[in-house]
Amino acid sequence: MNDRRTELTGRAPHPRPLPARGRGEEAGKAPFGVYVHWPFCAQKCPYCDFNSHVRFGGWDEERFLTAYKREIDWLADHIGPRTVTSIFFGGGTPSLMQPATTAAILEHIAKRWALLSDAEITLEANPNSVEAQRFRGFRAAGVNRVSIGVQSLRDDELRKLGRIHTAAEAKAAIDVARATFDRFSFDLIYARPKQTPDAWRTELAEALALAGDHLSLYQLTIEPDTPYAALHAAGKLVVPDDDAASALYEITDELTAAEGFAAYEVSNYARPGEESRHNLLYWRYGEYAGIGPGAHGRIVSAGYRQATVTERNPEAWAARVEETGNGIVEANDLTRAEQADEMLLMGLRLSEGVDLGDLASLGGVRPDLRVIDELVALGLLETLGGLDAAKISASPSHPDDVDVIRACAGPGLVPETVATAGILPVRIRATRRGRLVLNAVVAKLARGFVPAAA
Ligand code: SF4
Repeated sequence: MNDRRTELTGRAPHPRPLPARGRGEEAGKAPFGVYVHWPFCAQKCPYCDFNSHVRFGGWDEERFLTAYKREIDWLADHIGPRTVTSIFFGGGTPSLMQPATTAAILEHIAKRWALLSDAEITLEANPNSVEAQRFRGFRAAGVNRVSIGVQSLRDDELRKLGRIHTAAEAKAAIDVARATFDRFSFDLIYARPKQTPDAWRTELAEALALAGDHLSLYQLTIEPDTPYAALHAAGKLVVPDDDAASALYEITDELTAAEGFAAYEVSNYARPGEESRHNLLYWRYGEYAGIGPGAHGRIVSAGYRQATVTERNPEAWAARVEETGNGIVEANDLTRAEQADEMLLMGLRLSEGVDLGDLASLGGVRPDLRVIDELVALGLLETLGGLDAAKISASPSHPDDVDVIRACAGPGLVPETVATAGILPVRIRATRRGRLVLNAVVAKLARGFVPAAA
């Protein structure tokens, strides 16, 4: 983050008032997402470091609804018109929300911004029977996709993960989701303590038989300051080592591919065209507003990209919104170098990789070719493109090159074919091994940035 980091006070509504001519200049031209964070959970899972809070006495839902609407108003007033292409209710556990609250938030978003008629509207849900009963209400509210936190299909594993649902409830919730929504996804956590390759193979095959067109398959990671971190430090919780985790990743890729799911992102698998559009927006470094406690946003206006973060504590966030109209505690104008770092970090998660032309336009930099060569030689990176567009279209002797570019774009993710001076855009993407050490790959590339014109 740069020197212009600004801690917004309750009285200063924005660190840099937006000029009127900046308002709406991007409207209708690019995807724009809205992330709505619902911060409450029925119980805190011991591995979780998300901004989730348990309130045994409940919460004042009316108060929170009013605050969500006010924060949407504030942002709409400050950034101007946009066309919303996706909305994501994340958490926390948004399925604890009353469907009427979801409907009111969606109505308010549609009142303040244009909402595409086919916008993807996703809600994260836990597979408890009570919450599954609300699915029809969420559908009526306008939600058209659910993402269910199944995590495991084994009751003993669910208990160890601190989950309060059973495998039978998870399967029942998947059935309800299938009957209610056109699109649904569910999450599983693997590389769990003592999980064998055979056990994962069997569980994943079961999951694939239950799946719709999208699955999120995450390896268990030990996050700092969680109960799991304390157990891990005390030697009471042992997760698979790198080799074992890598073997489980191979199984994941093999089984999902056999069922027609492409690994379009590090942990996400979809049939062609069924990728999460909202998450693609993040990974392609698009623009999105973050609403609610602890939400992050990336807002583009008048040539600036601003990173926003709101107050994490739910009640403190609501109080802040009541006082000032927004819960933002940090708003930083990102430098071009920071944007380049972020674009690389997000884009290399995708099988389509990163377009170096886009990186140059946004950040004014490109990775040093020697660093790229080094990472390619290590088997961590692949390069795509750099082919003469005229030669490819004129000569049938190069079909493989074209196929490689298309295949590497991932299912439904055809790369732009705009040619600059007859040269197709060059992309880089992380190999499967590279994705396992993505932060290190990005750090090395970013350290070797050179001016794009060099
Ligand atoms: S339900 Fe999800 S968000 Fe809530 S504590 Fe568990 S993992 Fe975290």
